[in-house]
Amino acid sequence: MSSVNTTIQLITRDEAERRGKPGRAQTSCDDDLAKGPWEFDLAEALAGTPGYGPGASEADVAPAATPRQGQLPQEYKDASDDELTARIIAAKAELGDRVVVLGHFYQRDEVVRFADFLGDSFQLANAAKAKDTAEAIVFCGVHFMAETADMLSSPHQAVILPNLAAGCSMADMADLPSVEACWAELEALYGTEPDADGRVPVVPVTYMNSSAALKAFCGRHGGIVCTSSNAATVLEWAYERGRRVLFFPDQHLGRNTAKAMGIALEQMPLWNPRLPLGGNGESVMREAKVVLWQGFCSVHKRFTTAQIDQARVDFPGVRVIVHPECPMEVVDAADESGSTDYILKAVQAAPDGSTFAIGTEINMVNRLAAQYPQHTIFCLDPVICPCSTMYRIHPGYLAWVLEGLVRGEVLNQITVPEATAVDARVALERMLAAKPRSVQERSARQAAANTPVPAAATVPAATVPVA
Ligand code: SF4
Repeated sequence: MSSVNTTIQLITRDEAERRGKPGRAQTSCDDDLAKGPWEFDLAEALAGTPGYGPGASEADVAPAATPRQGQLPQEYKDASDDELTARIIAAKAELGDRVVVLGHFYQRDEVVRFADFLGDSFQLANAAKAKDTAEAIVFCGVHFMAETADMLSSPHQAVILPNLAAGCSMADMADLPSVEACWAELEALYGTEPDADGRVPVVPVTYMNSSAALKAFCGRHGGIVCTSSNAATVLEWAYERGRRVLFFPDQHLGRNTAKAMGIALEQMPLWNPRLPLGGNGESVMREAKVVLWQGFCSVHKRFTTAQIDQARVDFPGVRVIVHPECPMEVVDAADESGSTDYILKAVQAAPDGSTFAIGTEINMVNRLAAQYPQHTIFCLDPVICPCSTMYRIHPGYLAWVLEGLVRGEVLNQITVPEATAVDARVALERMLAAKPRSVQERSARQAAANTPVPAAATVPAATVPVA
């Protein structure tokens, strides 16, 4: 069968040639992207260790407990693209309202075309909740997204991840034992008593891209969840309740958001979980306003200021928008940064003939380019490197789990233990209740606070948007 990832390469190459700029987007970061994901399922089974897909950075080492996928039945590996398409359509038709298929923005087109909803992780979890008639939610994304959907959906709904090896290397960079060990060190350093204003020494904030266990940790310790859309609002919420924040797992989202709020870089120590005090001196930790876990996204780490410079040379007037998971210098050099939803809305609202260089996952960028041909849209990174874990979902797996449902068999169900889900929902509900402040409120609080890092400094317009 033809490789679905070849399609990605062809689309991008055609776009590059159409623009008369051959040399952009001509290569992929890993030739193995042309293989079926089941080859990696097999390799991991033979090695006895989990892994990520092709294109993962060398710094991505899957923890031993990372789920692995058993072997996909041979008939799905051997099936042609057309046969898989027919089988998926037939299974969906037979299941009707009993199933809902969710597709993340970063998922490949060959899978997304069968999705009932397309969106970011939190939008999709809520879409699942809204479709209460569905007994099964097939989440074509990654593991933490399926966990969130399970926690937010009704008890009678089963959430299915078509390939259990579709994890998230960033989410895996912070696990519960490491965060608990960090928390114990912070409590030993800062104590646990609130100050005269009632603010506790530290508030834990976890990015949506984290395990349910870490969301539950936040729920138990007065903390909260954030998305890339509402990170500034969530930090404001946290500074109303605490003097500093422990932010995990993505250092870049934490740093970019805190910097936009006026927090000095010196007050954002990076926490290495393998070193005492995260590798920091005690005096640095005492001055900290945000302790940043040293996690990152392999996809967004690839974007560089040199790519932005080149895009501006190739396309004078280009509008550069990057995701806030990108490194700080890239966000600073871009015209704007924002979540996937922000990027989508920016493209939709732009006048015809606009040119965008976008710093986020290639599947989303290519989809935007195809859907909005009135614009010139290209990925900032000329090397094609999709999310290596989203890649693990393929139409073969989608056909397999859907046909399982037709037979009455629930395959690859993701279930969060209820005790964990109860605490995690607390942190999610705090996020939903957190409201962005008006500029006047921010100014008033800043004047009253009389502290070097106010709870809510002004957020520059061209940075992380507030949902
Ligand atoms: S793009 Fe990055 S953060 Fe998103 S699922 Fe892939 S590895 Fe995780």
